[in-house]
Amino acid sequence: MELLEKRIVKDGKVVDRDILKVDSFLNHQIDVELLSLLAEEFYNLYKESNINKVLTIEASGIAVAAFTAKLFGVPLVFAKKSKSANISENVYSADVHSFTHGNTNKVIVSKEFLNSCDKVLVIDDFLANGQALIGLKEIVDKAGAEFIGAGIVVEKGFQPGGKMLRDNGMRIESLAIVKSMDPENGIVFEH
Ligand code: 5GP
Repeated sequence: MELLEKRIVKDGKVVDRDILKVDSFLNHQIDVELLSLLAEEFYNLYKESNINKVLTIEASGIAVAAFTAKLFGVPLVFAKKSKSANISENVYSADVHSFTHGNTNKVIVSKEFLNSCDKVLVIDDFLANGQALIGLKEIVDKAGAEFIGAGIVVEKGFQPGGKMLRDNGMRIESLAIVKSMDPENGIVFEH
């Protein structure tokens, strides 16, 4: 998506060869106009799929997922990071290794909000090694729901997540795919 790529080039900060910071429009300050346009792209990509729920993971996916859910007219559920070691039997859970923080979180979704009737679109801000999506897919599977696909704002194509998930048959739609980036030479996109 050209508008998004231009914004990433203008405002994104390549922290090192692995981390891209987009705090001025996605991860800290939120550009609501831009996010509503990103949501429209996700809507157009998945509008034939009859989804009835959007799922994301707290916290940074919530804003764009909320705009997307509004366009589909469906609820947004976000997986919560659980602080408790004891997981109640009323939730589905999965372990997710965090790329940016380097730790592993147990994430949970209440059984009340996901079930076998659901057709789920997963939305997230970034795709790197694919751990967040694997965890969310595990939760969808545990609920007996149907994983329709994922919508990602920024995929870092030089990291293995996207290829691994697509090779496993998952539909992954990314609005911008970074082919390479470094602090000196900037950001190159895949088309
Ligand atoms: P994965 O689970 O695919 O390895 O990483 C995706 C998750 O890590 C996303 O939910 C996102 O929050 C975070 N993440 C991964 N890479 C980046 C990055 O370059 N910048 C930011 N801001 N977040 C990232």
